[in-house]
Amino acid sequence: TEFTSPPLDELLFENVQLARFTKPTPVQKYSIPIVAAGRDLMACAQTGSGKTGGFLFPVLSESFKNGPSPTPDNGGYSYQRKAYPTAVIMAPTRELATQIFDEAKKFCYRSWVKPCVVYGGAPVGLQLREMERGCDLLVATPGRLNDLLERGKISLCNVKYLVLDEADRMLDMGFEPQIRHIVEDCDMPQVGERQTLMFSATFPDDIQHLARDFLADYIFLSV
Ligand code: AMP
Repeated sequence: TEFTSPPLDELLFENVQLARFTKPTPVQKYSIPIVAAGRDLMACAQTGSGKTGGFLFPVLSESFKNGPSPTPDNGGYSYQRKAYPTAVIMAPTRELATQIFDEAKKFCYRSWVKPCVVYGGAPVGLQLREMERGCDLLVATPGRLNDLLERGKISLCNVKYLVLDEADRMLDMGFEPQIRHIVEDCDMPQVGERQTLMFSATFPDDIQHLARDFLADYIFLSV
């Protein structure tokens, strides 16, 4: 298989080839069809396994096909623009969020999907200005995302794909309250069903608990 079953969106497939990814890694081989079939996923996969592509490829493939969602009315006040991402990826650290964002940029090349990244420990102004120029796919650390939600800068009512990457590390870092708040915010979808994907290196009790709370009838994948 070479990213052909199920086939990826044509433009995405070209971008995957430009990145010289010729063959899916095991986690990509199994996660892409599961996500493409509309299922929730709990995947145990290590860093370096190609898990980023495992969630980015099926999410982007579907997003490219759909085209932009209508921008909700902001009353014409552009300085009050709120971001309405359709995909949100949460990651524990600035470094991991930046890595995912860089991959997303690469694979969104020539598409209408605009990725953004927000994380703590950096001025919020630049991040907000970037989001105001469009934010379809948001990569975020839980603390900063929660902060922007509370300040009314982001709405999660359009989220169709929610990804928790390195969920075990996010719990180790004490992000559970922020994560729960964010997921609750996604639970008021105006666009039908939301799909939730969790990735974790380990599968201890607290991760199993989160999976039961956040995922619906999920498929368990261990690679
Ligand atoms: P990840 O586990 O997602 O952080 O990926 C680890 C590294 O493998 C990154 O540098 C990716 O760019 C690379 N990679 C992921 N999937 C593939 C693939 N199918 N073919 C070649 N390289 C890949």
